[in-house]
Amino acid sequence: MSNPTGGCLCGSVRYEVTAATDRIIMCHCTSCQKASGAGASANIALLTEQLVFTTGEPKIYVDTAASGTKLNRAFCSECGSSIFSMRQNMTDRLVLKAGSLDDSSHARVTMHIWTDSKRPWSLIDETLDSHEGNRPA
Ligand SMILES: [Zn+2]
Ligand SMILES: [Zn+2]
Repeated sequence: MSNPTGGCLCGSVRYEVTAATDRIIMCHCTSCQKASGAGASANIALLTEQLVFTTGEPKIYVDTAASGTKLNRAFCSECGSSIFSMRQNMTDRLVLKAGSLDDSSHARVTMHIWTDSKRPWSLIDETLDSHEGNRPA
């Protein structure tokens, strides 16, 4: 099977992933809601080296989490699509935004985090692992 591919809405940023992209963690933190324009962001945890840009490079917005941690939010500077986010104190890992994949039909939501700030209209599958705050280490 060929590697999963994806990119932004306008096509200025394209990437390939050299890992499985089958497990999605839904993050309901307020920053993800603002950045995505949705109730939550759909994140796939990867090692940074597993995300390879084949066209363009995303722009970085530095966000500060409630904990004080600085988070790089990467997006297309042309169309604004979210691509990934990465903690500045853990740059060997990132979370890819699942909606930017060309095909994620094989992926499943496995966990919900920051459900404390979930929007009232967001539906959560109660049978899944869910956490009021960050995922346990
Ligand atoms: Zn774009
Ligand atoms: Zn979040």
